[in-house]
Amino acid sequence: GEFRLLDFDRLSVLGRGNGGTVHKVSHRRTSALYALKIIHRGHPGAADEVDVVRRVDSPHIVRCHSVLPTASGDSALLLELMDGGSLDSLVGGGFPEAALAEVAAQALSGLAYLRSRRVVHRDMKPANILVSRAGQVKIADFGIAEVVSRAGNHRAAYEGTAAYMSPERFDTERLHDDGEVVPVDPYAADVWGLGITVLELLMGRYPLLPAGQKPTWAALMCAICFGELPAIPDGAASAALRDFVAACLHKDHRKRASVAELLAHPFVAGRDLTVSRRALCQVIEHR
Ligand code: ADP
Repeated sequence: GEFRLLDFDRLSVLGRGNGGTVHKVSHRRTSALYALKIIHRGHPGAADEVDVVRRVDSPHIVRCHSVLPTASGDSALLLELMDGGSLDSLVGGGFPEAALAEVAAQALSGLAYLRSRRVVHRDMKPANILVSRAGQVKIADFGIAEVVSRAGNHRAAYEGTAAYMSPERFDTERLHDDGEVVPVDPYAADVWGLGITVLELLMGRYPLLPAGQKPTWAALMCAICFGELPAIPDGAASAALRDFVAACLHKDHRKRASVAELLAHPFVAGRDLTVSRRALCQVIEHR
């Protein structure tokens, strides 16, 4: 390819996750900036992540320009740099509804694209949704993503952050009230993760546990599978936003709205594009 690792200077660390470290780098000859994500060879799912990033190409997915081998046998993904960082750094600072509609709309466009490529992300959460100062929203981190096959999914159900796991992921062959065993729709888990993300930005904190409660596995599983959704205070959200969040967060994945339905939802489809884009840019700028 046209890129080699030794053509880049490492400028700073953008983030650290399970898979490895993400550096901000600059290309020596062109001075162009990128994000470089090192994926350790031994990390479970390393090969899958490389497969998936090679399979996707969309304005709402963080673009991977190149996959470079490192001297130690690891892989390095050369990613487009998202100069607004991830949504988790915007939790708590106040998030106007117009900006929230823009986040939801663009993330849904990303999910619609992934669905067309038969990819389930499986780790939708604020840390994995990146923004640019220009107001673009893109889905990142395919570390536990999976290509859906007719043979069924092979990745472990429990991977990912428990806090953003959908109820059915705690019990993949869910026995419903009517006694019927229903195979799970793998795409519905990403809608759940987006719904929690929108609610978290709205409330300014992780929404499913009381502030201060330790997010143990048991507490999260209880809250996600059996708890009521938190009450959004009067005046804190429009009827459209309340309905949107409720549609994303049906505990029964069969009743949860699909990506296509949510793209047509008034909260998203009815937004004023100019206003919502500007509102999002302001949130990012004033962080
Ligand atoms: P992991 O798979 O190890 O969790 P991620 O891909 O989620 O790694 O990246 C970890 C963090 O690094 C993200 O939450 C984000 O803050 C930052 N980051 C990742 N990719 C980029 C990028 N392309 N541009 C800017 N920041 C990024």
